[in-house]
Amino acid sequence: MPELPEVEITRRSFAERIEGATVRQVRLGKPLRWPLGCPAESLVAQAVGAASRRGKYLWLPLERGGLLMHLGMSGSLAFSEAPPSPPGAHDHFDLVTSRGTLRLTDPRRFGAVVWSPGRDLDPAARLLAGLGVEPLEPGFTAERLHAGLQGRRVAVKQALLAGDVVVGVGNIYCSEALFAAGIDPRTAAGRVSLVRCRRLAQAIREVLQRAVTLGGSTLRDFHDAQGHGGAFQEQAQVYGRAGQPCRRCGGTVQRIVQGQRASYLCPGCQHR
Ligand SMILES: [Zn+2]
Repeated sequence: MPELPEVEITRRSFAERIEGATVRQVRLGKPLRWPLGCPAESLVAQAVGAASRRGKYLWLPLERGGLLMHLGMSGSLAFSEAPPSPPGAHDHFDLVTSRGTLRLTDPRRFGAVVWSPGRDLDPAARLLAGLGVEPLEPGFTAERLHAGLQGRRVAVKQALLAGDVVVGVGNIYCSEALFAAGIDPRTAAGRVSLVRCRRLAQAIREVLQRAVTLGGSTLRDFHDAQGHGGAFQEQAQVYGRAGQPCRRCGGTVQRIVQGQRASYLCPGCQHR
């Protein structure tokens, strides 16, 4: 599943190249998770603005409103300056512009492209409501993380995955950040002290920033808009390394299941 770093890498791969373009044509394939919400022809001749990201959503502003895009489980966006090839079986949205074509390929079709009159207006506002703070922006502080975890009895791993305290800490990054911070993923969220939240916030920032730098975790279906996969997973400290020696203490990395998701931890390095 594309996670925040992959979505950010995707954004960077086309944002500058498409800004200032004019929409020439819009092609729709099979239905995606949600309908476009406007006649496709109404987008033609509109100018395209600078793409931004909120959580795992991308917002592409147009002259009138904009497009809120999500990659779902298996989606990828590719921007090509070459004349567009005919859409394949899994290509369900083409935004043909004067600068090139932005194409959503999504075999499982949980992704979406939704028109909204504004990013702060429905339907975009409704879809973006309840998202936690952006982990790579200055507003993400230890104090904010600590306040968000306070009073929660759920495990810290699950509290982070929920995305309402901080967005974008997906399963891989969550395991890696908790390892870096020395926190057992089963620790009750409300019991993580401010001091440990300082380490955790720092670890989340570093893990996500490193993933963006390295090109995201390579997942089967993910490619950024230039078709590159990522190297993050090859450098994972604990994720996917059950039974292997911990790179820090030499102990054995364990796999557990929390909320039906796999968690990886080193019992020697991580404590409740
Ligand atoms: Zn260890």
